[in-house]
Amino acid sequence: MTAEIISVGTELLLGQIVDTNAVYLSQQLAKLGIDLYRRSTVGDNRQRIANAVREALSRADLVLITGGLGPTPDDVTAAGISDAFGVQLVRHHEAEVWLTDLLLKRNITPSQTLLKQADLPEGSDWLPNPVGTAPGIWMEKDGKIVVAMPGVPAEMKAMFEQEVVPRLQKRFSGEVLRWRILRFSGIGESALTDRLGELMQNRNPTLGTLVKPGEVWLRIAAKAQTEKEAEAMLDEIEAKVRESVGEWLVAVGDEPIEVLVGEKLKAHGLTIATAESITGGLVCSTLINVPGSSTYVRGGIIAYTDAAKMHLLGVPLEVLQREGAVSENCARWMASQVRIKLKAHIGVATTGYAGPKGGEPDKPIGTVFIAISTPNGTKVERFQLRGTRQQIRERAAYLALVQVLRLLS
Ligand code: ATP
Ligand code: MG
Repeated sequence: MTAEIISVGTELLLGQIVDTNAVYLSQQLAKLGIDLYRRSTVGDNRQRIANAVREALSRADLVLITGGLGPTPDDVTAAGISDAFGVQLVRHHEAEVWLTDLLLKRNITPSQTLLKQADLPEGSDWLPNPVGTAPGIWMEKDGKIVVAMPGVPAEMKAMFEQEVVPRLQKRFSGEVLRWRILRFSGIGESALTDRLGELMQNRNPTLGTLVKPGEVWLRIAAKAQTEKEAEAMLDEIEAKVRESVGEWLVAVGDEPIEVLVGEKLKAHGLTIATAESITGGLVCSTLINVPGSSTYVRGGIIAYTDAAKMHLLGVPLEVLQREGAVSENCARWMASQVRIKLKAHIGVATTGYAGPKGGEPDKPIGTVFIAISTPNGTKVERFQLRGTRQQIRERAAYLALVQVLRLLS
C-alpha cells in the first residue's frame, strides 16, 4: 500500500506556519508500515485541491489530506475532493445530526454557516471529530481511499488515531514497520559504516545513517507481520551492531540530548555543573529544559571575560596570559573549578571563538575546547566548528552535552 499526503492551506505556502501535520502523519504511516511516496502542499483553492487529489490518486492507494474543513469560505477541501471524484457536495444527514447536537451542547446556534461542515462529497463516509466541530471525510472508490482531516493539529491527531487508524487497519492487515535509533559519538559516519560492513546492505531490517553534530545516528528499521516480531528483529540486529561498534554507542532513541543526559545522571545518582564562555549559558539552559532537572543540575557559571574567569572560577592569571582564554588549559581549569565550587560530580566547560571576527592563526574562528571534569580527572577535547556565530555556539553547547553522554555511557 502506498500513500501520499496533501497539506491544504495558503498559510503553509506563505511560510506563516510550519507543516507539522505532514511530519506527524509521515511518522505514523511509517509505524503502520504504509509506504509514503510523496507530500505536497496546496493553497485554499478548490481547483488546485481537486488537481492535487487527482494526481495523488493516480499514483497512490491512500491520500491523506489535512486542513480546509472548517466553516469559513476559504475552507474548500470537501469541494475539491468532490471535484476530483466528479461528484456533488451533499449534506450528510448523520454528520449534520452529530454536528447540530455538538453545537447545541456547546450553546452555539447551529447556523447554516456552521452546518456547511456537514456538506461532504456524495458517497463518502464521515468521521466524527473527537475534539472539534469539523467532521472528517473518508472517501473510498475503485480500491483507493481519500481521507480528509482538520488542519488544527490536535483535532487532526485525535481523528487520525481514533478514527482513521482503526479503519486502515481493518482495511489492510498489512505489515508494520518498527524502527530504532542507535546513537554513536567519537566515530565518523564512514568509519562506522566501514566497520558495519555487509550489515549495512541488510534488506530487513534496513540500516541507514544520519549525521548530527557530534553524533552519528544509525536508524534500524524492521518490517514484519506484527509489532512484536518487528521488535524481535530489531533486538537481533541491534545486538550485531553492538558487537562491531558498541564501544562508540552513546544512546538508543531519538529523544533530545538533554533528556538522555538527564536520564543517565539520574540513573547514576550524579550531579552536574557548567562553566560557560562561548556558549554563554546554553549548556545549562538546555539541561534545565527537562522537568525535574533540579535533582541533578547544580547550576552554572557564565564567565565571559578573562576577569570573570579569574574571579568567578579561579582560572590562574598565568594560564590566561600564557595560553589565552581559548585554550585547553583554560577549559580544564573552568571545568574542574566549577565542579568543585558548585559541589557537583561532573563539571562541563566551554571556551572558544564564535566569530565573525577574532580568532588566532592557530586557533581560527570555530575553535572550541570542551572539558569534562570528574573527581577522576579532567578530559579536554578540541573541535573545529563551522557556521555562523549562532550556529557555532549552538553546536558547541550540543557537543558539550554529547561529551557528557559519552562519559556516562
Ligand atoms: P478550522 O475548523 O479551524 O477552520 P480547518 O480544517 O479548516 O480547521 P485550517 O483552516 O486549514 O483547518 O487550519 C486551521 C489551523 O490549523 C491553521 O490556522 C493552523 O494554525 C493549523 N494548521 C493547518 N494546517 C496545518 C498543518 N499542515 N500543520 C500544522 N498546523 C496546521
Ligand atoms: Mg479553516
